[in-house]
Amino acid sequence: MPSSRVLGYAARAVGQPLEQFAFKPPKLGEHDIRVSVTHCGLCHTDIHAIDDYYGITAYPFVPGHEIVGYVSDVGGAVSDLKEGDRVGIGWQGRSCMKCEWCLQGEEQLCLDIVDSGTWVPFGGFSSSVFVDSRFAYPLPDAMRSEVAAVLMCAGIAVYSPLRSYANRSAQKIGIIGVGGLGHLALQFAHALDYDVTAISSSEEKKQQALAFGADHFIASDDKVSLRQAQFDFDLLLCTASGKINWEPLLNILKKNGELVVVGFPDVSFNSTDLVAHQLSITGSFLGNRTTMREMLSFAQEHGIMPKMELMPMSEVNKAIRKVKENKARYRIVLFNDIADTDR
Ligand SMILES: [Zn+2]
Ligand SMILES: [Zn+2]
Repeated sequence: MPSSRVLGYAARAVGQPLEQFAFKPPKLGEHDIRVSVTHCGLCHTDIHAIDDYYGITAYPFVPGHEIVGYVSDVGGAVSDLKEGDRVGIGWQGRSCMKCEWCLQGEEQLCLDIVDSGTWVPFGGFSSSVFVDSRFAYPLPDAMRSEVAAVLMCAGIAVYSPLRSYANRSAQKIGIIGVGGLGHLALQFAHALDYDVTAISSSEEKKQQALAFGADHFIASDDKVSLRQAQFDFDLLLCTASGKINWEPLLNILKKNGELVVVGFPDVSFNSTDLVAHQLSITGSFLGNRTTMREMLSFAQEHGIMPKMELMPMSEVNKAIRKVKENKARYRIVLFNDIADTDR
């Protein structure tokens, strides 16, 4: 019999520190599973959501969407997972399965996306989570749980756009930002055989960027190098957030080149180059279920290795402070030190 109470950490109101929180497990739908959480990564999106940056947060709010754990209960129609299976779960925990996007296999664009998050009803900073089994992914046996946790959001977010450009003619690409997303993007881009340049505001990240797989490094305030790189790049993948000086960066894209945004940077620039060079700017949101499975086996095969720190889940507020102060190198994964209870 699964336990009757789940423990988690919830924000009770906008921007509040997380507090211990107990809730009754929801009734499993026929495709749903209950997963006993062993690890959950802390993503900047969790912190944004605590602060209601997206305007969709319902309180009490339990964050956490880079989840690894073991299946502990299954709904009646679940056939491909059973109790005891180890799975990874990302930001998306379900979808409507019937809108035009779901029918095309692009579930990450589901029209019900707000209600499809793993945060609903409560996310991964808990002893158990409840999701549609079709959004839980069996993990390669040899992959460590903390590694898989990071890949469930940060990994898919950068792999999906890089993979789709590998099918086209892009060869020379620039990764803007060497952080939680960027350090994975460099590894995936290298493994996909691109000619990869890391572009970062901090020169001191050069050696690390090269170690992650960058072939070249440009400091974003190095005007000379940026001028020399004019019309050099097929693709720029922006993994950074916050303020960016866009004009010198757009100038290094080839004509017809493309900027893909996966971070949440401020976007504002003079549109002259955009028009005159026929540039495209697109966003990319996570990935679909097929790409998720492919990403996990690609990451295992190519030894993609997030750089991370492990902390106990009971120190979640300390972990949040560290990310807010930009001191995490580069991701934090919480291992669970709370369990379901009957009391
Ligand atoms: Zn995330
Ligand atoms: Zn849908």
